[in-house]
Amino acid sequence: MKYYFEDFIETNYKGILEKLIQQGYQFIGFDYEIINSGTKFVLWRHDVDHSLNRAYRLAEIEEEFGIKATYFIHIQSGFYNVFEPDQYEILCRIIDKGHTVGLHFDHGFYTKSRHLINNDEIEKCAIIEKEMLEKYFNIKINAVSFHNPEASNVLNLKQGYYAGMVNAYSKIIGDKCKYCSDSNGYWRYDRLLDVIENDYDRLHILTHPVWWVPYEMSPYERIKRCTDGRRNSVIKRYCDILEQSARENIGYGQENSEVQY
Ligand SMILES: [Zn+2]
Repeated sequence: MKYYFEDFIETNYKGILEKLIQQGYQFIGFDYEIINSGTKFVLWRHDVDHSLNRAYRLAEIEEEFGIKATYFIHIQSGFYNVFEPDQYEILCRIIDKGHTVGLHFDHGFYTKSRHLINNDEIEKCAIIEKEMLEKYFNIKINAVSFHNPEASNVLNLKQGYYAGMVNAYSKIIGDKCKYCSDSNGYWRYDRLLDVIENDYDRLHILTHPVWWVPYEMSPYERIKRCTDGRRNSVIKRYCDILEQSARENIGYGQENSEVQY
């Protein structure tokens, strides 16, 4: 299998947006009125599983092209925390660029960690998450996408709305649009460039920002780049706090490289 690492670089991302614009696609949000309207469109969706910093970079590129996308936020992510100050600010800046925020809902968290079995009860938890993000960021959330839908066993939840939000996995969207996803950092089914060549009338494209980087890397290297960046910024925060409060940073610069963090 060819993995096309060269596809997942920022210059190619720009090329993809350019092609879609040239082919007359409108970048629309998750709104059934437009989805059903006969417009030639692309639902440009980002499930932010790992990196809000990478999401911001894509938001910047999209802004250069005058494009709006929908960023689905995962509040149980083990890779970023949207409620911590730096990340909070990054999401605010994405919102300020005119992009839309959706809820990336981790149904599996509620069945596995919270041991809930009743689907209605889990749907109420999605409403709580939606309202948390709405209140915290002073926004409206109208769309939801399921995190890891296969593993969470939610592929059967195909109703138009879930927890009062447009369901990105609804039957309507599934039937109307050609779908393409970059899950796991490669093209498991269709290569996006081939999908665009085919000039379908309606597209639903899912990307995960962590996979799109400045230069060619394997998916593992892209994840490592993201987690190393986070680790460095956390350590820097610790050092900065000590420096600002004129406290001694004992052991700084004398790290034992064998110490396992
Ligand atoms: Zn996800």
